[in-house]
Amino acid sequence: AKCNNEGFPHKIVDLLDGFKASKTLFTASKLGVFDVLSDSEGLTLEEVADRIKASVLGTERLLDAAVSLGLLHRLRHGENTVYRNTDQARRFLVSDSPLSLHGYILHCNDLVWPLFTHLESAVREGTNQYERAFGKKTENLFQDGYYKKDDVKMRFMNAMHSIAKVTGTDVATAFDLSQFKTACDVGGCTGAMAYEFTKAHPGLSVIVFDLPPVIEMRHHFQPKEQDDRVSFVAGDFFKDDLPKADLYILARILHDWSDDKVHELLRKVSKACTPGGGLLVSEIFLDEERTRPSRALLQALSMTEGQQRSAVQYRDLLEEHGFTHVQTKYTDNLLDAMLFVKKDPNADKP
Ligand code: SAM
Repeated sequence: AKCNNEGFPHKIVDLLDGFKASKTLFTASKLGVFDVLSDSEGLTLEEVADRIKASVLGTERLLDAAVSLGLLHRLRHGENTVYRNTDQARRFLVSDSPLSLHGYILHCNDLVWPLFTHLESAVREGTNQYERAFGKKTENLFQDGYYKKDDVKMRFMNAMHSIAKVTGTDVATAFDLSQFKTACDVGGCTGAMAYEFTKAHPGLSVIVFDLPPVIEMRHHFQPKEQDDRVSFVAGDFFKDDLPKADLYILARILHDWSDDKVHELLRKVSKACTPGGGLLVSEIFLDEERTRPSRALLQALSMTEGQQRSAVQYRDLLEEHGFTHVQTKYTDNLLDAMLFVKKDPNADKP
């Protein structure tokens, strides 16, 4: 007889296990499981355990959990049972694949996971739990948190780099940008997004503007094919003048800051941008009811002064600084995009 599952709380039961699934992915990535499997037709349990320097029993549990999550295959190979990467693992989890999410996964494991273990306090106190999780006070998450130590800085930059590579093409090709010759990617980090823009727009040069400790590490992230249309300028977007450009890009910047700080930054962008110039904002846009995407609302749980906003909220913030909305593009990727142009303040005058 068919079992009647009506009323069984599938969704809740999936959520009960969600953290175990995440941690399985993180641990397999961190121990290098997908890397050791990357150039073989399959390895036995003992071979994997030996290469990742872990116990056979623990490795077996990890690999079998990964199989159940669709990250690995387990198959018969002659006399042996072997494990092999799935296509998705090969494309996105092997650390040196072109679209690898490895950097972002390590960031989730080493930074976001500890913050989320203190979620209860974060909710009670209404703030990010960096100090509780890492024993250090931060006034500014970037300067005091991520960029104080080189290994933490590289981990953060790797995370940004991997997301930018995976999402960059969709953001860069979201709009016709042919009227712009120069762009400034404000908070452009490793330049991964800038290279996507120059690839997509042959007439465009991009200046990456970011804090000095980030810019000094740029050589670690240069693509194999150098592109002299991408250049780098070090500075602080709250203190220094921004480089001149026809188009300003703010990708994953505004959600990190309060409305006050956003206004401070937009005043700078507006001052640097000439009438007719453009501004491209790329973020996850919440729907107007603030119910979706869940990803954006989950990310907000570990924020300090930032917040997630809807497309209309972003539009309202930008209009206050003289930018007119041109177009919004929902990419169905990790990042959406909006294009604005700077109004000519004299245009409406008689
Ligand atoms: N735009 C990149 C992307 O989409 O991959 C990186 C986004 S990351 C969340 C935020 C970036 O803003 C970091 O690279 C950080 O260094 C930079 N940033 C933070 N505060 C800054 C400041 N005051 N001046 C310049 N850059 C800053």
